[in-house]
Amino acid sequence: MGNVIVVSQRPSDAGELVGLARSIGDPVIVAFQDSAERVEELLSYGYKVYRVKSSRPEVLAKAISTLYNELKPKLIVGPNTRNVKDAMAWVAGLHDIHMAPDVAGVRVEPDGIVYKRGFLSERVTMTVKAPYPAIILVNPRVAEPAPREGVGELIELNVGDTMVRVLEVKAKELSGVNLEAAEVIVGVGRGFKAKEDLSMAFELAKLLGGQVGGTRPIAADLKWLPEDAWIGISGKRVAPKLYIAIGISGAPQHMSGVSGSKVIVAVNKDKSAPIFKQADYGVVADLYKFIPALIDVLKRRRGST
Ligand SMILES: Cc1cc2nc3c(=O)[nH]c(=O)nc-3n(C[C@H](O)[C@H](O)[C@H](O)COP(=O)(O)OP(=O)(O)OC[C@H]3O[C@@H](n4cnc5c(N)ncnc54)[C@H](O)[C@@H]3O)c2cc1C
Repeated sequence: MGNVIVVSQRPSDAGELVGLARSIGDPVIVAFQDSAERVEELLSYGYKVYRVKSSRPEVLAKAISTLYNELKPKLIVGPNTRNVKDAMAWVAGLHDIHMAPDVAGVRVEPDGIVYKRGFLSERVTMTVKAPYPAIILVNPRVAEPAPREGVGELIELNVGDTMVRVLEVKAKELSGVNLEAAEVIVGVGRGFKAKEDLSMAFELAKLLGGQVGGTRPIAADLKWLPEDAWIGISGKRVAPKLYIAIGISGAPQHMSGVSGSKVIVAVNKDKSAPIFKQADYGVVADLYKFIPALIDVLKRRRGST
């Protein structure tokens, strides 16, 4: 056993990260960009929680680096968020240790960590063994959440400033959807002909208790969805229990973001669309006919027509 540093940043599931850390060693948690409520949650896992009072990755890097020197951890575990990736790249460089983002599966061995990671837009999965110490940034649902049955200790970690200066901060339009935590996601693609037609997808998602995400053309080019609903290699990586891909062709850059889904259902009018090769269930149909019919069936089952 040994120390494991868990980096927590909303909206990642801290419970899963702590659960993974506990199977490896004694966790300490670093809270980054976490609200007071979230810090309370972190304390309830029963470990020391170091709070970094900055939202800048270079300050997080300095904080983790300071803790690294003090605790000599065998592993640093964090979520695949942009800021944590930035910060951990600095830490890995500073301490000359191995770092892997986008980790999809982990096995603990006495002399190192064995992890799985997709490459080439998930067309290849590589299994890698990294000796301790190492840094891994994991996808959602790689571990069971830890129980919240302890009383932790809160420590303010003040590492001062860094030489980097932020010159401007501009807010992006975000919807507040948390696709990483969603159990059902309705994915929308260019098969939809108009922004208003997405209301079908929102209605379906509501009936299934899910959220709506989309392909890059929908979110980034057409801007029919906010940027935080963009799924794929350059957007979010999600791992719902059910992913319903509607009017999505199945490009590798999109599919790499949904490869952690338990079940993929594809609705596409072209029977040779590549998505059918990766879907567990495929419906060859015009979405404009199929989705209203599906909504109708679901509503009737719930007796809410
Ligand atoms: C560097 C790079 C990074 C990228 N990153 C991402 C990323 O992160 N995420 C991402 O999503 N993409 C990404 N892309 C883009 C990606 O390559 C694809 O172009 C994109 O995913 C295609 O989106 P789509 O499936 O919505 O559209 P299309 O490929 O145009 O597919 C539309 C599908 O809808 C079907 N369709 C049309 N009408 C209907 C209908 N009435 N009923 C049913 N089906 C219908 C068609 O048969 C077709 O299969 C990236 C590309 C590059 C080069």
